[in-house]
Amino acid sequence: MGYRTANLTSSIFLSSVLCLPKFSFNLLSVSKLTRTLNYSVFFFSDQCLFQDLTTKQIIGRGHESGGLYILENHVPRLLVCSSTLTPLEVHCRLGHPSLSTMKKLCPQFQSLSVLELIDFDNTDMAWRKYDAITARELFKQFGCSERIYRNVFGPLLQVGLFAPPEQCSAAATIGMLYFISLAHQKDFDMVWCRGTVRGKIFNPWMDSLRTKGCRFLDGGKMKDFIFNKETSCISGVVCSNETYGADAVILAVGISKVQELVKNSAALCTREEFLKVLNLSGIDLLTCKLQLDRKVNIPHASNVCSTFDDSLGWTFFDLNALHDEHKDSEVTTIRVDFYHANELLPLQDELVVTKVISLLSNIIKDFEKAKVIEKEIARFPKSLTHFFPGSYRHMMRGSTSFPNLFMAGDWIITRHGSWSQEKSYVTGLEAANQVVDFLEEGSFAKIIPVEEDEPHVQALRTLNRRFNEITDQFPLFNFFLQ
Ligand SMILES: Cc1cc2nc3c(=O)[nH]c(=O)nc-3n(C[C@H](O)[C@H](O)[C@H](O)COP(=O)(O)OP(=O)(O)OC[C@H]3O[C@@H](n4cnc5c(N)ncnc54)[C@H](O)[C@@H]3O)c2cc1C
Repeated sequence: MGYRTANLTSSIFLSSVLCLPKFSFNLLSVSKLTRTLNYSVFFFSDQCLFQDLTTKQIIGRGHESGGLYILENHVPRLLVCSSTLTPLEVHCRLGHPSLSTMKKLCPQFQSLSVLELIDFDNTDMAWRKYDAITARELFKQFGCSERIYRNVFGPLLQVGLFAPPEQCSAAATIGMLYFISLAHQKDFDMVWCRGTVRGKIFNPWMDSLRTKGCRFLDGGKMKDFIFNKETSCISGVVCSNETYGADAVILAVGISKVQELVKNSAALCTREEFLKVLNLSGIDLLTCKLQLDRKVNIPHASNVCSTFDDSLGWTFFDLNALHDEHKDSEVTTIRVDFYHANELLPLQDELVVTKVISLLSNIIKDFEKAKVIEKEIARFPKSLTHFFPGSYRHMMRGSTSFPNLFMAGDWIITRHGSWSQEKSYVTGLEAANQVVDFLEEGSFAKIIPVEEDEPHVQALRTLNRRFNEITDQFPLFNFFLQ
């Protein structure tokens, strides 16, 4: 018998412990723990938890067995991990964050808006400068905490730029955050289509274009271009097995489609700007529409989530709340989209459904009981633009080295400042205007400029540009890595 110090687990040490060598159990006094170590102990029916009251960290855990609680050799996780939010909490905090929400969540946003946003003015120079670093480095530079990074910026970028921050360009991050969250606050709004975009927007729009003489080749994928050496222009496009004459062409497809075309086109693979596109990459997308056998109460119609290991960004939508078609239905219809879905793409549909239900059940318990009665799963490999660090210098501009071939899309460089669908639309209008200019026929579309910055931001931007111009003239300034 004697007294000694005992290491109960890797993080619980007790001094002056009574030691009875022949006694086969180690019994722990709760009051000893709570008083001498400043711990609190929580007892539940199946387990108990030990919490350090100073750091608020869970430092020990035990499980119930035969009326006793058995201490486990628990290795405490980092405090940031134990306080990780559920996706629902992330959504409640994140939703569609406005600048004021973002500033409340993370005051560091104030310094991002003043410093990086002044410096990042959407010019070629700013893109080149910020495209060299990752979004993670950017957040680190403005003092973002691990928790805000994991719970706010991580999920936001996974659904905004479709990849985790360490795989996103800082330039694209500022561009996207500025357009979607930071600028033009009074205009900020999120509007959802009350049906499918195809049904509600594209089909009626195509019908109206048909009445104006436009012809659509359903399923006629474009495969190649006919190059006229004499004019140095594209004189035709090959769709399926037919060739159509062309006065001008606008190519409005994603990166992976351009890559496919370049590899198969004798005309495109002679041009540097098209060869450079082969350095770019797309991100996998998987979409899943499920109908369940019962009504599940979903508190928010649109939800932004990410998995804890950061591999997937995903959104889910309550179509009963969003689409007229499902408004009065007795059953629940949801749509789930997974970005950066590399790990999901090879899975069989049944496994995808199991994964979806398991993820949803973590957020809303009632999903566990629901049975899937209909499923529609679609896989889109490499279909989303990946704005990875260093990608900017390979992206294309609206005009090409073919005088009558123009580009449009959310990855085409424009100084307009818009993003995503709006960027595709604007670059489409810009390309159409270039066609009008080239053919000297037709009327120019009016492109509404992105609203100007407030005067004090403009003044700071001008000052910053001057400073950059002056420093550029110092002989050794650009010698060092910026
Ligand atoms: C699930 C999801 C949700 C999104 N949510 C939003 C959002 O809320 N807001 C937002 O602004 N953006 C959103 N985006 C991004 C947005 O959809 C894209 O930025 C936008 O669709 C890009 O438009 P695009 O015309 O450049 O390319 P795409 O939409 O990819 O259009 C390219 C078209 O070209 C066709 N095509 C491909 N190859 C050929 C060929 N060889 N011949 C002929 N035609 C061809 C394709 O069929 C397609 O119709 C979302 C994206 C996804 C995947």
